[in-house]
Amino acid sequence: MKGLLLLLAKRYIAGAERKDAIDAARGLNSQGILATIDHLGENIRNETGAEESVREYISLLAEIKEARVSATVSMKLTHLGLDISEDLAFRNAETIIKKASECANFVWLDMEGSPYTQRTIELFLKLRAKYTNVGIAIQSYLLRSAGDIKRLIECNASVRLVKGAYKEPPEIAFKDKNDVDRNFELLMKELLSRGAMPAIATHDERLIGEAVKLVKERNIPAGRFEFQMLLGIKRKLQTKLAAEGYRMRVYIPYGKDWLPYTMRRLRERKENIYFVVRNIFD
Ligand SMILES: Cc1cc2nc3c(=O)[nH]c(=O)nc-3n(C[C@H](O)[C@H](O)[C@H](O)COP(=O)(O)OP(=O)(O)OC[C@H]3O[C@@H](n4cnc5c(N)ncnc54)[C@H](O)[C@@H]3O)c2cc1C
Repeated sequence: MKGLLLLLAKRYIAGAERKDAIDAARGLNSQGILATIDHLGENIRNETGAEESVREYISLLAEIKEARVSATVSMKLTHLGLDISEDLAFRNAETIIKKASECANFVWLDMEGSPYTQRTIELFLKLRAKYTNVGIAIQSYLLRSAGDIKRLIECNASVRLVKGAYKEPPEIAFKDKNDVDRNFELLMKELLSRGAMPAIATHDERLIGEAVKLVKERNIPAGRFEFQMLLGIKRKLQTKLAAEGYRMRVYIPYGKDWLPYTMRRLRERKENIYFVVRNIFD
């Protein structure tokens, strides 16, 4: 089973080492595509693990600069110790954001499952009050997201809009995919009209079409927002949007802790589940 998942992971993950991610970013940059690099890892339960994660991000930022690749970084607060304490996660995130600032780089905070939503937003706002080079992901499947986006737009914060990749209860999340998509469209239009450098992070061609239509109608310059997609998904569309002059950024995960990320990619596409099940019973 793990072997099968590893096979699937190869589509979505650059490799185990920093160098693999830098090479992937270089390849994308040569096609006019920007990158954001994520060191895989989440729910670290001891301070040493969180410190290791900080060291990895510091080295990553230095190598991005040295290699002169166009890549921001993306990280999860539970990889920096949020399960241990909010203070620890704040301090660790701040160390990375400071380093990014010295390197003229930018940090995206990923959004994790709903037990972390409020804390992630609060820590983000504390960080954003001190640093301008940090943005945050918001999930359109959560009922609360319209309110969060309003607040984030008021703070001039950069928001990466995603549909959401975790299993959430019906009390707090839209369950019907059509509702998730409808909310994405609503929030996307709000961000494109009033947001500061938003990222429209989806592979959904209908929603991307709607975004393109809106920016053309309203004459929103291509430099005022960006599209984002995941490594290994809709590669032709990535190249097409970049060739049309849109800012296109690809999220590149690397590292040894590949299983939770791969499981999320597995769940969101039924063909992936068929692939695993078929191979188990073959
Ligand atoms: C840059 C980026 C950052 C993200 N950060 C976060 C985050 O911080 N927190 C979070 O909860 N989620 C995050 N996500 C994941 C996101 O929430 C969705 O789970 C994921 O993007 C799939 O949704 P979709 O918008 O592509 O739409 P969907 O309707 O799910 O997919 C649209 C189409 O894309 C293709 N597709 C989608 N998923 C796959 C797949 N796994 N394999 C192959 N093809 C696929 C299919 O053709 C599908 O029909 C991120 C996504 C992106 C692009």
